[in-house]
Amino acid sequence: MSETATVREVGLRDGLQMISTFFPTDAKLAWIRAELEAGVKDIEVCSFVPPKNIPQFADAVAVAEASVAMPGLRPSALVPNLKGAQRAVATGMPELHFVLSVSEEHNLRNVQRTVQQSVDEFRAVVELARAQSFPVRVSGALATALGCTIAGPVDPGRVVELAHILVEAGADELSVADTVGYANPAQTRRLFEEVGRAVAGRIPVAAHFHDTRGLGLANVYAAVEAGVRLFDASLAGLGGCPYAPGASGNIVTEDLVFLLESMGLSTGIDLGRLVEVRRIVAQHLPDETLYGQIAKAGPPKGFARAA
Ligand code: ZN
Repeated sequence: MSETATVREVGLRDGLQMISTFFPTDAKLAWIRAELEAGVKDIEVCSFVPPKNIPQFADAVAVAEASVAMPGLRPSALVPNLKGAQRAVATGMPELHFVLSVSEEHNLRNVQRTVQQSVDEFRAVVELARAQSFPVRVSGALATALGCTIAGPVDPGRVVELAHILVEAGADELSVADTVGYANPAQTRRLFEEVGRAVAGRIPVAAHFHDTRGLGLANVYAAVEAGVRLFDASLAGLGGCPYAPGASGNIVTEDLVFLLESMGLSTGIDLGRLVEVRRIVAQHLPDETLYGQIAKAGPPKGFARAA
C-alpha cells in the first residue's frame, strides 16, 4: 500500500469567486457530483461572504444544503467572519475554512478587520462550531503567507506565530496559502518545515498554491518534501484576480493529481474521469480559459495510478 495524499477541490469557491457570469446552482451541483464520482471527496463548495459582495455565492445556502446531503462527500465552505460561520452551520456544513491574511494590509482590504480582530473572531467561530449538535471542523486559513501584492514580502516568523495562535485557539486544520502566487519552492519548503514544527503533528497542514508565475506545481513538490499531504486545487485552474495583471487561478486539480500519483502518493482519484468534468465547466463558462496540461496532452503511455 502506498502513502496517500488528499486533493481538495476549491474551484467552486476560489475559481468562481472572480467570475462574474453566474454559474447556475444545478450546474454547480452537477460539477460537485461529477468530481465526487471521479474520487474527489473533499470539495470546498461555496463561500459565505455577503451575497451583495460576490453575487456568484448568492446560492450558497442551496449549494451547501445539497452538498451536505451527498453521501460520501466531505464538503467545506469558506467563512470570512462569524456571521458567515453562523449561516454555514445552519445548513449543516461540517467544515469551515476561516480565512485571515498574514499581511495586515491585505486583511484590512479583504475582510475589513485587523489581524488581531480576525484572530478574536476565529476563537468565536471555534466556539460556535463546538456548540453545534453535529461535529464541525474549523480550519484556520492563513492567506498571503508567502507574499502580498500590497505589502510585498511577508515575514515567515509571523506565519509561524499565527500558526501557534490558531492551533492554541482550537483549529482542527491549518491551511497555508500563497494567495497571489509569489512563492518559490525553496521558500515554500522552508516555510512548511517551520509550520510543520510549530504544529508538531497535532492537526493536518494544507497547502494552497496559485500558479500565477508558473511555480505552482514546483511549490507542491517542495511542500510534499516538507511533509504536506493535503492540497487545494481548482479544476481547469479556474480563477484569477481582476486586480492582479496576468494572475491565473489555483494550481490545476488534474495536473496536481498526476503529479502526486506519479510520485507514488495515492489520491483515490480517477484522472480520466476527472478530466471529463471539465466539460461541465466549459459548457457554462464558454468565455473562460481552461488551463491544464494533462487535459491537453493526456497521461504518458504506461502511466499507472499509485496503488
Ligand atoms: Zn486562493
